[in-house]
Amino acid sequence: MSSVRCEALLAWYGEHARSLPWRDTTEPYPIWISEIMLQQTQVKTVLPRYAAWFARFPNIAALAEADLDDVLKAWEGLGYYRRARFIHRAAQDIIEQHGGIFPDQFDEIMALPGIGRSTAGAISSFCFAANTPVLDGNVKRVLKRWHAKPESNDKTLWILAQQAIDDAANPATWNQAMMELGATRCSAKVVDCPSCPVGSYCESAFQVEPTKELRKTVPVLDLHWQVDLYLDAQKGIWLKQRPASGIWASLWTPPISELPQPSKRRPDHIHLLTHRRLHLYANRFTDAPMDEGIWVSSLDKHALPTGIHRLLATIDGISQLLPSIPPVE
Ligand code: SF4
Repeated sequence: MSSVRCEALLAWYGEHARSLPWRDTTEPYPIWISEIMLQQTQVKTVLPRYAAWFARFPNIAALAEADLDDVLKAWEGLGYYRRARFIHRAAQDIIEQHGGIFPDQFDEIMALPGIGRSTAGAISSFCFAANTPVLDGNVKRVLKRWHAKPESNDKTLWILAQQAIDDAANPATWNQAMMELGATRCSAKVVDCPSCPVGSYCESAFQVEPTKELRKTVPVLDLHWQVDLYLDAQKGIWLKQRPASGIWASLWTPPISELPQPSKRRPDHIHLLTHRRLHLYANRFTDAPMDEGIWVSSLDKHALPTGIHRLLATIDGISQLLPSIPPVE
């Protein structure tokens, strides 16, 4: 891409960029957290969690010292909890291996748990002005359209992305502008070529159908789970921690048992995960719990999966019993 094309995109970004809190800083800690939160989660969902995160973990040391349970609790509602576990481990690595200072070298950043090449590229460019491209889903789409190469593989796209950022005067702004273009004018659902800043240079301008991109179809496995609810007006709800691996790893739920076959009754809630459809059947008990666990009268300190929050929201009188249930989105 010639510099004139780069300038058109950068000028557009300067005028039209959405105001987002992580764009007002070059500090690695908030940028790292925002980049991980924004993987697979929409901006509007991230915004309130982003603000709350730093009230809870103001710096990397506080994050490294926190219990994993607290970190998972702060992640509640963002989904894909593996990211929170990686963040916690990475904070501990930064303390142990880098003296508590976020590394400034690309290879060291990429060696941290949960940080891939694209995220390392974002952090390196935003914080340390490195010429390292971002290649997330939005940028891939823009590059494919811009060069009319819809079948390009990642290897080709990394080369195109590197060439483009090498031509740009400011790598940080370039990366932001490419992501912004892919999130707004040139998204999976919207292809707004008439108002696109690179419309004069794009090889696919006015030729892309504004339809949602085809996603790979992945088989979905149906699981039928009985969720045992022990509720007590004084003690609250009986919860146990899930195993450290598998679905909802390390989160807190009422005791769950898998049904060998679908129940005859309708599930109280069906929750979709990436490759799983969880049919959840609430079973209320009035006798004492037999399974291991603890009584919890407030949900302020325990991270529950969104699926369980949604299931609990279907139970009559739950808000009187557990007033700390946060609103479900
Ligand atoms: S001209 Fe159209 S297809 Fe090309 S980058 Fe812009 S919005 Fe996307």
